[in-house]
Amino acid sequence: MSSKRVSVIVIGASHAGLGVSHKLLRQTSKVSVTLINPSDEYYFNIATPRFLVKPESLPPSKYLYSIPETFNEYPNSYFTLVKGLVTKIDYLNKSVLVNTGENQSTKGDDIIVTFDYLVIASGSTTPATLGQGSLKLPFKATAFEDTRNAISEAQKKLQAATRIVIGGAGPLGVELAGELAEASGSKKTITLVSKTRSLLDEATETVQRTAESLLRRKDIEILKNVTVDKAEQDLETKSWTVTLSTGRTIEADEYISTTGVIPNNEFIPKSFLNHDGWVNVDEKLRIVEDGTSRSDTYAVGDITCHPYRLLSRVSLQGATVASNIAACIEKDTCPATYSVEAQRKMMVVPVGQSTGTGHLGGWTLWGCLVWFFKGKDFLTYEAPKFLRGKMQ
Ligand SMILES: Cc1cc2nc3c(=O)[nH]c(=O)nc-3n(C[C@H](O)[C@H](O)[C@H](O)COP(=O)(O)OP(=O)(O)OC[C@H]3O[C@@H](n4cnc5c(N)ncnc54)[C@H](O)[C@@H]3O)c2cc1C
Repeated sequence: MSSKRVSVIVIGASHAGLGVSHKLLRQTSKVSVTLINPSDEYYFNIATPRFLVKPESLPPSKYLYSIPETFNEYPNSYFTLVKGLVTKIDYLNKSVLVNTGENQSTKGDDIIVTFDYLVIASGSTTPATLGQGSLKLPFKATAFEDTRNAISEAQKKLQAATRIVIGGAGPLGVELAGELAEASGSKKTITLVSKTRSLLDEATETVQRTAESLLRRKDIEILKNVTVDKAEQDLETKSWTVTLSTGRTIEADEYISTTGVIPNNEFIPKSFLNHDGWVNVDEKLRIVEDGTSRSDTYAVGDITCHPYRLLSRVSLQGATVASNIAACIEKDTCPATYSVEAQRKMMVVPVGQSTGTGHLGGWTLWGCLVWFFKGKDFLTYEAPKFLRGKMQ
């Protein structure tokens, strides 16, 4: 690594971390970027409802990509990928500690990497990804096990199950129910449990009604204003007993939780975090510590305190961080700002292969448009753009 160049560490190589790294390398030749991630593969998790349920519909080449290959366009000394998990940030020495072992308990595999600027893009995970009170489904990349193995295990379990309960009727719950209703093999009995009195709580009323009617046409049982109080798996039979707030219990082959987002923040100083564990940032996406913005550390993507943890938010945030770091290096200024309000609200929810619902701002999307934008291949056509930081 050239000592003349400014060293930037980016923690996390998913949509946000890849975007920042590419945008920065394209904007200035004065940086060397070290990207740290547990895997050297980019995982396009957005398409999980489709390929976990219908493995034949999308080959792995559509949702798993080599990260190093995508950085071939830059000279070697400008970019390094470190495969490992950051376990600590040390501001005294301006460095991070990285566990490069095969699992968390492997000792002696720690390395230290130093930085001038640090970008935290460690994102979030979900209870189902961790198998916490749910069938284990890799809705996000898994840190210490091979995501490919986790995908293949999940596909087998979903194929074998005939009685499935889904807890949570947000976009993921609705998408998953729609896919499961169309899965090949023996017909599945699916129950979708919604805590709120309509599905897709954040959508317009028309979209909520359309989602419900499309799912009912697929024979999905919908329970509204009901919560899952308990979901317990029998360790011998592997079946689940799901207890609802109404007192009803349902016996199921699998229970899938689609609720909850957990910040990947174990290595982040507590002084950076809000009360829910997300990283406080200012309008320039610099980290805020005890009310003061740090000039050497930024955060981007799901890990920030900004609401709406969505892929559609990640590109603009990445561009903001890359512009600010480049400008700080070149001119000692930090001009770019990010505003959540500036991004238009949209929701596109396929319900099965050929239809769905959603809205763009105040415009309701017809089923054929939902198919065109997302339903036909679950946005996998966009994955190469995220991988190369070319999303606008
Ligand atoms: C099933 C599902 C479907 C979704 N569908 C949509 C959709 O249709 N539209 C939409 O807009 N949004 C969708 N989202 C939200 C979207 O996935 C997130 O907003 C997006 O993944 C955020 O990207 P990110 O890069 O910030 O974080 P993440 O994708 O969470 O990636 C974080 C990365 O950091 C790595 N990491 C974590 N900790 C460390 C560490 N200590 N050291 C090194 N690396 C670390 C992780 O392994 C991972 O690679 C969906 C989410 C889920 C779960």
